Amino acid sequence: MEIQKVSLKDYTSLRIGGEANMITIANEENLSDAIKYAKENGLKIYILGDGTNTVFGDNLEKFLILKIEIKNITVEEKDNDVFITAGAGEKWDDVVKLSVDKNLWGIENMSLIPGTIGASPVQNIGAYGVELKDVLVSVRVYDTEKNIFSELLNSDCYFGYRDSLFKHETGRYIIVSVTIKLSKTPKPILSYKPLDTLLNKENLTPSDVRELVVSVRAEKLPDYKTYPNAGSFFKNPIVSKIEAEIVKSKHKEAPLIEQGDNFKIPAAWLIEHVANMKGVRFGGVGTWPNQPLVIINYGNATIDDLNFFTNEIKKRIRDDVGVELIQEVNIIS
Ligand code: NAP
Repeated sequence: MEIQKVSLKDYTSLRIGGEANMITIANEENLSDAIKYAKENGLKIYILGDGTNTVFGDNLEKFLILKIEIKNITVEEKDNDVFITAGAGEKWDDVVKLSVDKNLWGIENMSLIPGTIGASPVQNIGAYGVELKDVLVSVRVYDTEKNIFSELLNSDCYFGYRDSLFKHETGRYIIVSVTIKLSKTPKPILSYKPLDTLLNKENLTPSDVRELVVSVRAEKLPDYKTYPNAGSFFKNPIVSKIEAEIVKSKHKEAPLIEQGDNFKIPAAWLIEHVANMKGVRFGGVGTWPNQPLVIINYGNATIDDLNFFTNEIKKRIRDDVGVELIQEVNIIS
């Protein structure tokens, strides 16, 4: 077991963060050893995948970062279904690409979402009308309370909109691998724009859907290797009918999307039209001009710059329409 002192900004796509001790986890044995070490030394564990949804502060002495590199992908066919099990350290989009190359349906709408397989159940990733929970069979975890490896089924994970058990029982479960079920039978989901442009396409393949999603995302979103960012910084808030009416009374043009008894409001719209902060910069940070939900580190941004900037966005929206934006990104300090 090798403990390295690293600068965490080199391990996160927003490139903010101080130094900390890190252990690379390549298999289950490494994981149980590292947890034992952390417990014996009174260290808090933080699980890091690709760092595309995490921002670290400066003072991290009390943390031991476990960088999950557990790899391996297996594919098992049963009639029309195909089960893919991938190690937590595999990249989500590599699995999407593999599934599309095999002409399998189920996750093509979720193409190009950054991050690892292990991170995907935590926020129940989703895009264009499909969420991980729609295909997830089970998650293999290390339960740090019971000190055992075990299997959680889909229903055990309490999935919600960008939400799961893993966000509530923080630190208890460490995801080791994920099994999803895909289909050989065409099951396109094309209700969201712009995927509806494929509705009348003959002989549609998962690859056609992936290609469109990839081109839309590439046009709208900055590549974090050039413009360091952590993807969507806030969740799209879901508000009650009364709260939605307050928004509508102040902003007639507000795009409110019905969700059962509630309404979803695109956070990007709130940042642009209510906070008036699309394309605005402060210190080293700013919102991306094509998609203000993405916050960019324009150079040497600090955690203080980021906190100041995101608090200002939240305050302007709260003060105007009473809606509370909640961060999607994990901030560890
Ligand atoms: P977008 O397509 O501009 O959509 C903005 C918002 O409108 C989202 O909340 C989306 O819902 C909602 N929406 C759009 N069409 C809808 C429809 N036909 N029915 C119901 N709701 C609808 O969003 P974007 O920022 O460019 O992102 C593209 C897709 O990637 C979205 O689906 C977004 O949620 C997803 N995404 C996911 C993650 C993640 O998993 N962490 C991060 C970034 C983006 P939904 O949120 O339900 O999709």
